[in-house]
Amino acid sequence: MRVLLLATTTGYQTRAFGEAAERLGVDLVFATDRCDMLEDPWQDQALAIRFYDEAGSVATILEAAQRTPFNGIIAVGDRPTVIASRAMKALGLVGHPRSAAALARNKRAAREHFKAAGLPTPAFVEGTPADGPDHFLSVGFPMVVKPLALSGSRGVIRVNDETELAGALSRIQRLLASADIQAERHEAHKLVLAEHFIEGREFAVEALMNRGTLDVLTIFDKPDPLDGPFFEETIYVTPSMAASETRAAIVRAITDAAKALGLYHGPVHAECRVNSRGVFVLEVAARPIGGLCARALRFVAREPRLGEAATVREAQSPGAAGSALSFEELLLRHALGEDSTLWQREAMASGVMMIPIPKGGIYRGVSGIDAARAVADIVDVRITAKLDQLLLPLPEGASYLGFIFARAPRSGDVELALRTAHARLTFTIAPEMRVLQSTHG
Ligand code: ADP
Repeated sequence: MRVLLLATTTGYQTRAFGEAAERLGVDLVFATDRCDMLEDPWQDQALAIRFYDEAGSVATILEAAQRTPFNGIIAVGDRPTVIASRAMKALGLVGHPRSAAALARNKRAAREHFKAAGLPTPAFVEGTPADGPDHFLSVGFPMVVKPLALSGSRGVIRVNDETELAGALSRIQRLLASADIQAERHEAHKLVLAEHFIEGREFAVEALMNRGTLDVLTIFDKPDPLDGPFFEETIYVTPSMAASETRAAIVRAITDAAKALGLYHGPVHAECRVNSRGVFVLEVAARPIGGLCARALRFVAREPRLGEAATVREAQSPGAAGSALSFEELLLRHALGEDSTLWQREAMASGVMMIPIPKGGIYRGVSGIDAARAVADIVDVRITAKLDQLLLPLPEGASYLGFIFARAPRSGDVELALRTAHARLTFTIAPEMRVLQSTHG
């Protein structure tokens, strides 16, 4: 069996998929624009593609498939999802349709489809930053302005009045003109969406679709208030501590939203806000949760439901008996045709904290890692920032200092462990020279 993985990043995720593939006895081939950054042994056979060149990338994949066929394709990260859909269709593999993957990447198009499906929707207006504040005023304050096709909360800014709106538009305009975003050559990178601010608690949903049916693997609570002006994600904890009616309403809303976009088969990562008016879906992406966060998820064989007897367990391949699966392994199995409902998330509560960048500057180091690791229920503390790296916080920046993982019998303890461990870390961030120069004229 051979699976193609389309990925915009390398490193941890590449290794995690590599390990899962090895366990399953599956050949893994990477397609990326960063072949030079892949580690051995995958580098040699990796397909070099350009994510902005949809047709060219699909052609490269089809050519490779002629030499040795792929039995499944997985896209991780937002950018490869459309290419993966096209390649799957051409190769006769079941996946999300191209149109659905494209809709999921366009915040305005997704909103329109959610609205048409009768889902609660905030007022929204699309435009360019150059249209100026007047163009967006009908949305009403407070509002959130965001680039139409970026991810990871990049460029997402809450504004409370016209002056803040003008400031945010200029800021997003500069961001969209930056070299790394221009390099993506994506048409929609000229556009922004303004939406009325949705009050409420936020949740993330990880799911897999099996030929049109959404299987929710888990709902994460995001216990930190996300009220802006920027929306740095920090803590994810599962299982959700929300009331069972709230969880059921979330599942219904995400199911309807995925259907509204036309998603059909494959990974789905969704975000929503819940308040007294209902569940507001923020996004439904045709891909799994990003990189290291996936480590918070482990799966075990699903308990047979009443009347199902042992058929579920028998259907499972013998290699996996007894041990928990990584999310990457579940994704590979699913890509090869296995029904995701054979598996369920483990019984333990689990969580991850994406360590936010407290301020911009040069990363000079961290102390307290051992003390953070010593906190009860902490599984791991991983600092991903590299020494002397330039750190750029949101809304322009795009990354975290690292990740803290916790597991415990109860979600509340997971959250507490993550906060306690984080409080034991002290990061040293030196001012960037360029910043100094400009402040001193
Ligand atoms: P991205 O795909 O870049 O993560 P999102 O549209 O999902 O962009 O927005 C990122 C975060 O910003 C959300 O998780 C949420 O916290 C906040 N946000 C976005 N839109 C709204 C809104 N209309 N009301 C309230 N918060 C919002």
